[in-house]
Amino acid sequence: MLTHSPKGTKDIFGDEMPLWHSVENKIRALCQSFGIEEIRTPIFEHTELFLRSVGDTTDIVQKEMYTFDDKAGRSITLKPESTAGVARAYIEHGMFNNPQPTKLYYISPTFRYENTQAGRQRQFHQFGIEMFGSYSPALDAEVISAAAQLMESFNIKDIELRINSLGGPECRAKYNKALKEFIGSNIDGLCKECKARYEKNPLRVLDCKEEGCKKIIAGAPSILDCLGPECKEHFETLKSILDSMGIKYVVDSQIVRGLDYYTRTVFEFVTTSIGAQSTVCGGGRYDNLIEECGGPKTGAVGFGLGMERLMLTLQAQNGQSEFKPYRDIFIGSMGKEGFIKSQTLVYKLRKAGIKAEADTVGRSVKAQMKYANKIGAAYSMILGDDEIAKGTAQLKNMETSEVSEIEIENIVDVMNKMLK
Ligand code: ATP
Ligand code: MG
Repeated sequence: MLTHSPKGTKDIFGDEMPLWHSVENKIRALCQSFGIEEIRTPIFEHTELFLRSVGDTTDIVQKEMYTFDDKAGRSITLKPESTAGVARAYIEHGMFNNPQPTKLYYISPTFRYENTQAGRQRQFHQFGIEMFGSYSPALDAEVISAAAQLMESFNIKDIELRINSLGGPECRAKYNKALKEFIGSNIDGLCKECKARYEKNPLRVLDCKEEGCKKIIAGAPSILDCLGPECKEHFETLKSILDSMGIKYVVDSQIVRGLDYYTRTVFEFVTTSIGAQSTVCGGGRYDNLIEECGGPKTGAVGFGLGMERLMLTLQAQNGQSEFKPYRDIFIGSMGKEGFIKSQTLVYKLRKAGIKAEADTVGRSVKAQMKYANKIGAAYSMILGDDEIAKGTAQLKNMETSEVSEIEIENIVDVMNKMLK
């Protein structure tokens, strides 16, 4: 127990860290170019927020939430997704009073009690974008194009954008009726859970991952046939904008997404390179959520992208990246005076922005040089009593083994020149 992290959680460090940094840097640069600002909401919220927004018949709420009472008896939930928290913040801080649209992004740990497997953890990370304050399909296109641009910037192959429209409440009511009829006549072949879903929320049946259910669902009526004229027009305009942007997509009427708050546009980016957990990014429009949570009626679109799944895709495509350690200089020492001087110089070099390292564990000179190699030092120097007395030392280029005599006190200038 003490030496293992809880099931479904992972320590991220070492070889994996450069990939995380590079993905995060790309995300931040992308959001900057789209004029999207970062928001950091709390890791936990009142449970009620998720019941209201995610929907109490969804898998997330029914099976996957980490919910507990705090010491004052309030029901608290670790965020199973971030849209609800961002929507709450949008209302709480009156962001609807700002010029619209409001464009926000987050990178956040996310918690779901799920069966763990590759690409499915209990604590994972999502990058997401939420845009509020417009009903125009241009906002849907902006959100989708941001995700598409991110995939393109990583040169991800084998990824497909799938879009669909769930319509508004009226289209949905019409579709639910048609779907219920269809499911009703196929009910015997469905799994136990789908039989329950059929009564409470038939749309969720389309989301089932059981093979038997998937086969039956393939023949289900299409929601696109139930769209009213306005929803149809919205979807058509979105497609025209995506076409004009040169963003490729396929229309897939089976995409419904696992959360109840979606209206009209829904979309997913699906890859074929990481096996069963193939949805890297999913999102859509949610025009009723802000009002549902107590704010003014507000059009909104967003997506959530699984960072771990994105990285699994990148690794499947590009191979595991190797972490190569690197330091500009290692300053070794022999004897007390040299030891103290090496610490002083390293501090001075670091203040000048040079990646310097000295011995801090009491190694022999031979072991210190071995260590300098291990940490990828470009240069090295050893300070003993002689060097301290003369004020000069040998600076060694670790790659060529070339040596030059330098004034110890000039080390910052010398290094700056060498590293140019
Ligand atoms: P799935 O159908 O795979 O369960 P989902 O529909 O529940 O996904 P969303 O709620 O849309 O997922 O979350 C957005 C993204 O977050 C997913 O597309 C996926 O990349 C990632 N994600 C979701 N759940 C997990 C998890 N347990 N572990 C790792 N990543 C996850
Ligand atoms: Mg899920």
